[in-house]
This record gives sequence, C-alpha cells and structure tokens, in this order.
Amino acid sequence: MKIVITGGAGFIGSNLCEYFLSKNYQVSCLDNFATGHRHNLRAFEGHKNFSLIEGDIRNLEDCHKAVEGADYVLHQAALGSVPRSLVDPITTNEVNVSGFLNMLVAARDAKIKRFVYAASSSTYGDSVGLPKVEEVIGKPLSPYAITKYVNELYAEIFSRTYGLETIGLRYFNVFGRKQDPNGAYAAVIPKFVMQLMKHESPVINGDGHYSRDFTYIDNVIQMNELAMTTQNPEAINTVYNTAYGDRTTLNDLMVSLKKYLSNFDPAIADVQTIYGANRAGDIPHSLASIDKAQRLLGYQPAFSMQEGLEQAVAWYWENLK
Ligand code: NAD
Repeated sequence: MKIVITGGAGFIGSNLCEYFLSKNYQVSCLDNFATGHRHNLRAFEGHKNFSLIEGDIRNLEDCHKAVEGADYVLHQAALGSVPRSLVDPITTNEVNVSGFLNMLVAARDAKIKRFVYAASSSTYGDSVGLPKVEEVIGKPLSPYAITKYVNELYAEIFSRTYGLETIGLRYFNVFGRKQDPNGAYAAVIPKFVMQLMKHESPVINGDGHYSRDFTYIDNVIQMNELAMTTQNPEAINTVYNTAYGDRTTLNDLMVSLKKYLSNFDPAIADVQTIYGANRAGDIPHSLASIDKAQRLLGYQPAFSMQEGLEQAVAWYWENLK
C-alpha cells in the first residue's frame, strides 16, 4: 500500500512519514520546503520504501506526479499560522485553497482510495460554546481560517459529485517532536521551550488566561491511521475534531514547561515570563469534543497533554540544546 504525504517535510507530515514507514507502507512525500526541513527527512532518506518528490501543490502536474500509483493521500501541505495569513493572505490562499483543490483533482483522477486532510480548529471561528462539536461552527476570524473551511467545503463536494472518499481532521494545537521552534510564526510550545532553554523570557500574548486543547503528535498520528483505514461507512466523508479533549491555559502551560525543563536545568524555574498584548485573530478558548471520533472511529487518545509535554520537552533537550 502506498501513501502520499504532502507536507511530509513539516512537523506533522514527517512524523506521519516515520510512523507509516515503520508500519511497512510505501511512503511518498511531496514538499516544496517552504516551511519544512530536510533534516526532518534525514532518518528515512535512503529507506527502500521512501521517496521524495520535491514539488509544489500549486502546480497540478506535481500533484499528478505525486499521486501516481498511490492508494491513500494524507494531505498536510499548507501555510499554517493565523498571523502569517494576516500578513500575506494571497499566498496563504494560493497554497491552502488552490493547492488543496489541485490535490483533490489529482486524487480523483488517480482513483485514490481515500483522501485524508489536515483541517483546523480555526474553523470554529467566533463560536463561543465549549466544547466545540463538529456540527456547530462560527464565522472565521482570519484568512487562514477561511482557507481551512473552504477545504472542508471542497472535500464534501468531491465526495458527493465524484465519489472520492474524504475525511477532514480538525487539528487542535498539535505539539511534539520535530515541531519547528524558529521563525516569526513558530507555535507557542516549541518557541517557549527554546526560549526557556536559553534562559530568555517568553512572552505570553494577553494575561495568560486564554486556553487551548493542546494535542500531542501521537494522538494525531492515531487519528490519521484510523481515518485512513476505517471500514465504517458512516465514518467517511465527514470531519473530526482531532484533539485530546481537555484545555490548558497559557499560564498553566508555562508552569508545566518550567517544571519539566527544570529536571534538566534547575535555573530554568527562575526565568521570568513577560505578558504582552492580545494577538489579532486569536480565539480566547478552545476545547474539543472528541465524542464523534470516539464513536465512529474508535479513537482513544493515548497521551494526555502532560504526558506529551514531558516527552516533547525531553526531545527538545536532547536534540536542540
Ligand atoms: P509545517 O509548516 O511544519 O508543515 C507544512 C509542510 O507543508 C511543510 O513541510 C511545508 O514545506 C509544506 N508546504 C507548504 N507549502 C507547500 C507547497 N506549496 N507545496 C508543497 N509543500 C508545501 O506545519 P504543520 O504544523 O506540520 O501543519 C501540517 C498541517 O496541519 C497544515 O495543513 C496545517 O494547516 C494543519 N494544522 C496544523 C496545526 C498545528 O497545531 N500544527 C493545527 C491545525 C491545522
């Protein structure tokens, strides 16, 4: 069985490549290295079941080439980050919407068995109810959120009109090994870990009471595998929250990060936190209901946020210190 993983050089994609190679699948990665890194692929470059197609999802020919002979697509390639989309909505739209559509067309033409794609919790937009349930969304709060919602609309149309099996996974603040700590659009956990390791004060946007359903990468891998392999006809052509199902404030996150990092360097416990202004486009709270994934896919998250955090911190200490 051959899987195409777009964005396979990125954080989530490279973890998926590694996992499915370990399960003896053939894995082909399509990436243009816009935000991904060659070092994420180093461990399996040369593996007999691994191939890399350096290409761009904005180019339909590259997409057709990538899906040739494949059974499944796990589509991860996109430009992430709400702030990036506010700075450059045009490129975000080209990659996340036109690139997505190209991949759907290529998957349809190649008669792919199933197209599983990275959707986003940002689709909940300004809806205030917690926990978030898949059927109730609000108005998008950023260009990024619009692109991820449009992905869901296109996927549904391709299921309905061309019979392409699709499943969207609305990821909630994923973290773990290989997540990029550098750059203007780095996610909070790797960014804070790197700053604390250097004894630099991390900046929390707002008063630290905003909360997120931080989700460890291994739970996300599990969801991709379940979505790709489920034989339950009721479980396909729909979207799922992909989360742990609990929320943690930024202040509590900081306490935990300092606790785990202090095991390696006790001085980290004394690094001061700085508080800044709230960020445009940020939603105050995010918490997923995972009932639908549990009921239809049999999802059982194996890592709590704390268990994942301990592992992630150890990985950063070992690999990036
Ligand atoms: P990432 O930036 O580490 O990975 C994205 C990958 O896509 C990179 O390797 C990048 O080079 C590649 N890519 C970008 N533009 C491309 C293009 N035009 N052609 C080919 N490849 C391209 O990000 P990630 O955190 O691994 O996110 C993966 C997916 O999950 C994205 O679709 C993102 O929107 C979605 N997502 C992530 C999170 C999260 O918390 N990390 C939350 C919600 C949704």
